[in-house]
Amino acid sequence: MSDINAKKDALISIAKRCFETGLQTNAGGNLSVRLDSRDAIVIKPSGVGFNECTRDNLQVVKLDGTIEPSAHKPSKDLDFHLDLYRIREDINAIVHCHSPWATGYASAGIEIPCLTVQTIEKIGRMPLIPLSPLGGPQTEQEISPVFKDPKVVAAVLANHGTIGVGATLMKAQYLAEIIEETAHIAFVRDVAMLAHSKNSAAMPSFGTAKDARASA
Ligand SMILES: [Zn+2]
Repeated sequence: MSDINAKKDALISIAKRCFETGLQTNAGGNLSVRLDSRDAIVIKPSGVGFNECTRDNLQVVKLDGTIEPSAHKPSKDLDFHLDLYRIREDINAIVHCHSPWATGYASAGIEIPCLTVQTIEKIGRMPLIPLSPLGGPQTEQEISPVFKDPKVVAAVLANHGTIGVGATLMKAQYLAEIIEETAHIAFVRDVAMLAHSKNSAAMPSFGTAKDARASA
């Protein structure tokens, strides 16, 4: 039996969570999930908000780019979503949003540091991907090379937003949330250090006590 409706329902629920947590307002950003058949995805179309996704407006798209009949325009982000599924078998879901703390940090041209133990454990590094050479939005040409490294699960797009990938929608969503939370923490840390004339502070080397002990 097809898993299309189950995957659509999961996407609708994660999109609502993204909206309710303030990671994505209006109709920007996008999220998608791979179907069990492996050769197609469910994705939000252009012009539909995260809070307005329904079984009827979500699109089903084959990895070769063929879109099942739909009354909606495909997302501007469709190509980079498709390419990430093509280059990484372990990616079954992508949450891309324009969350403000992370996007602000990235727009300053600063890679968000993994300054909490949780970020070290769950992410390791969040590469900053600059705008396209023409100054436009990042496409698969800028994004896919970064994700060819199988250790990369999160990245931040300068002047644009964030990308979290995972084996499930919830895992990708958790990453989108951790990226935003970390940017917020980094901003507070930077401002606090400035206010207190500190120019250095400790950074964790390990994400878990077990890893730290193992290195001793
Ligand atoms: Zn976007």
